[in-house]
Amino acid sequence: MISNDIAERILAAVDAQFDAQLERTAELVASPSLRAGEEPAQDLVEQQLRGLGLDVDRWTIDSPELREHPGFGKPTVDYGGMTNVVGTYEPTEDLGKSLILNGHIDVVPEGPEDKWSRSPWDAEIRDGWMYGRGAGDMKAGLIANLFAFDAIRKAGLELTGRVHLQSVVEEECTGNGSLAALLRGYTADAVIISEPEEDALVRANVGVLWFTVRVTGDPTHPREMANGFNAIDAAYEVIEALRGLEEEWNAKKGEHEYFENLDHPINFNFGGIRGGDWPSSVPAWCELRVRVATYPGTTADDAWAEIEECVADAATNSSHRPFEAQLTPDGFYSEGYVLEPGSDAEGLLEETHRAAFSRELTSFTTPGYLDGRVFVNYGNIPTLVYGPVSENIHGFEALRS
Ligand code: ZN
Repeated sequence: MISNDIAERILAAVDAQFDAQLERTAELVASPSLRAGEEPAQDLVEQQLRGLGLDVDRWTIDSPELREHPGFGKPTVDYGGMTNVVGTYEPTEDLGKSLILNGHIDVVPEGPEDKWSRSPWDAEIRDGWMYGRGAGDMKAGLIANLFAFDAIRKAGLELTGRVHLQSVVEEECTGNGSLAALLRGYTADAVIISEPEEDALVRANVGVLWFTVRVTGDPTHPREMANGFNAIDAAYEVIEALRGLEEEWNAKKGEHEYFENLDHPINFNFGGIRGGDWPSSVPAWCELRVRVATYPGTTADDAWAEIEECVADAATNSSHRPFEAQLTPDGFYSEGYVLEPGSDAEGLLEETHRAAFSRELTSFTTPGYLDGRVFVNYGNIPTLVYGPVSENIHGFEALRS
């Protein structure tokens, strides 16, 4: 139990540094850490960690152990020179429990920039909100980790347990950054991931798989269209079949604790489509980029087998004619997780949340990917995904009316 006096000292230390915290957050948002472009932003984090007097470990995430791990997502970018950064605090005398504070540095693409009213990278603060790609997801949380750690010491307290401050890559596409950190040997009694979760705790979370379906057509001149086979038309049949599988999986939500009360926990997203070479040629190919979700307890391998079967059925039983559809995993290949209630870490979070917000902590289920699965499923560590309020992450800036 934290005394009121200590809680107030810590909160006052956080307040005293808040302008600096915003500045560091804005600086990080202004570094566009899109996939495979994270290194300048990781430089900024490294500087910060060194400024806190921590031992810094920065390494290229790729390794044979990573690639052989069942939770490894297949990358489509070069991992050469792509690094994680971890700052470690070792207490002079190790008496307490250890903690990992984790955040991801990568951000998703900003979309057509003319849909933004300003640069996605200017981190402008207006009416108390910071706008910019990655401000909410999750540079605010990542910087908050560093300042929270520092506030304890600025409040005149000494930490008695080991702390690792992690800035990882690849959270938005494979989850390999956090997996690489775990495989590097970083474990602790608990993990906090300060994702934008509206000051609530994530109780359960879906697994996510990414893949490409490539449908092969038979090109002809449109004057003899009936002799050819249109790969784009066929791709629509694949979409329809996968939508069917999505509904089948959603119909099973009652079998999955923490998912039964969600309207539509399993979302398949067709996130990309391209095909054909010429308007006056029946398209010879079409590719769909797909994201699917799964319930915790369903391994990626099991989900993959169902997806393969679903697409193979669609290709064999096409209303046009049987076609070739090739599936390739090309990103997340992950299993969801459930945070079992009752850990010491969760109990402490309940207390501190109450002290900071004067209300009870709530928990909920998210239908999106989180790196929590790495630490829960493979490290068996209670992992608290809990973080600040945000709006419209992965979208354009949400102008508040
Ligand atoms: Zn995130």
